[in-house]
Amino acid sequence: MILSKKPAKSHFLESTLFLYLQLLQNFEIVFFKVPLHNKFYVEMIVIKTSEEIELMRESALIVSKTLGILAKEVKPGVSTLYLDKLAEDFIREQGAIPGFLGLYDFPNTLCMSPNAQIVHGIPNDKPMEDGDIISIDCGALKNGFYGDHAYTFEVGNVAKETKKLLQITKESLYAGIRELRVGKRVGDVGFAIQNHCEKHGYGIVRELVGHGLGREMHEDPEMPNYGRRGRGKKFVEGMVVAIEPMVNMGTHQINQLNDGWTILTKDGKPSAHFEHDVAIVNGKPELLSTFKYVYEALGIESNEEDEFSFNSL
Ligand code: MG
Ligand code: MG
Repeated sequence: MILSKKPAKSHFLESTLFLYLQLLQNFEIVFFKVPLHNKFYVEMIVIKTSEEIELMRESALIVSKTLGILAKEVKPGVSTLYLDKLAEDFIREQGAIPGFLGLYDFPNTLCMSPNAQIVHGIPNDKPMEDGDIISIDCGALKNGFYGDHAYTFEVGNVAKETKKLLQITKESLYAGIRELRVGKRVGDVGFAIQNHCEKHGYGIVRELVGHGLGREMHEDPEMPNYGRRGRGKKFVEGMVVAIEPMVNMGTHQINQLNDGWTILTKDGKPSAHFEHDVAIVNGKPELLSTFKYVYEALGIESNEEDEFSFNSL
C-alpha cells in the first residue's frame, strides 16, 4: 500500500516533457495533479507489454508461494520475526530480492500487522496468541519487476465476528477486481469495495490506497478503496495494479505509532488487509498473484479466483 496524496516527484521540465509525450500517445492516461510544494505533478501510468506481464506473474508467484509457506507456520507461540526470516530466505532462494526490505528504509522483509494494526507493522519477537489475526504483506523483486501481495491469517481460534471481517474484506477485494476492465474507471473499483464493506458497518481506510505496480513498487495510478462510480482514470489494456482493501471493524480513522511506520485503528478494533496483483488482459482482470498456496496449506477449498482466469504455471 502507499500513503495517498503524494508530493511532486518530477522536476517541472521533466514533467512537462512527459505530459507532451503522453498527450501525443493517449490523452486518456494523463492528467495533472497540483500536490505539495506548489509543483505540478504528472500522473504517469506505465503500460506493460505481454512479455512484461509474464515477468510480473513470476514475481507475484514468488510472493504467493511465500505466503503459502507462512500459512503453515502461523500459529500461537510463533513470532513475527521468525516468519520474517523464513520469508526472506525463501525469496532469496528464488533468485529474488525482498521487495520491502530497505524500501523507504523499511527494516524487514514483511509488514506484519496483528489485530488493530492495519498495515506497516514491524516484525518482532513477541509470540502470537490464540485468537489473534495477523495481516502479512509481502513484496519481491525479480527480473526488474515487483510482486506485492497480502493476506490476513487467523491465529488459532478466532472470534466469529473477526472471521466475518476477514471474509467480507476478501469479498470486497474480488468485488473491486471485477471492476478492473477496459473502459471502467478507478472510482468504479473504489466504489465496489467501499459499498461491499460499508453495508456491513465496516470502516474503509482513506489514508492508504492501492497502486500501480511494475518496475516500481508504487506506480500510478493510486487505487483508493473508496470512490464514486464513473470517476477517475479510465482503465486501458496492459495496466497492472495492486488492489488492497484495508478494512476496519469499527471506525475508518487511524493512528500511527511512534516507530514512524505502524498504522493502527483509532478505536483499537481489528483491521483486515487482502491484496492481489492484477493485470488487464484482453480487456478483463487477470490475477497475477494467487491465494492457492495459502489455501493448500490451510486445507481450504475455493474457486474464488476462477473467474479471473489465473493461468497457473
Ligand atoms: Mg501494495
Ligand atoms: Mg502489499
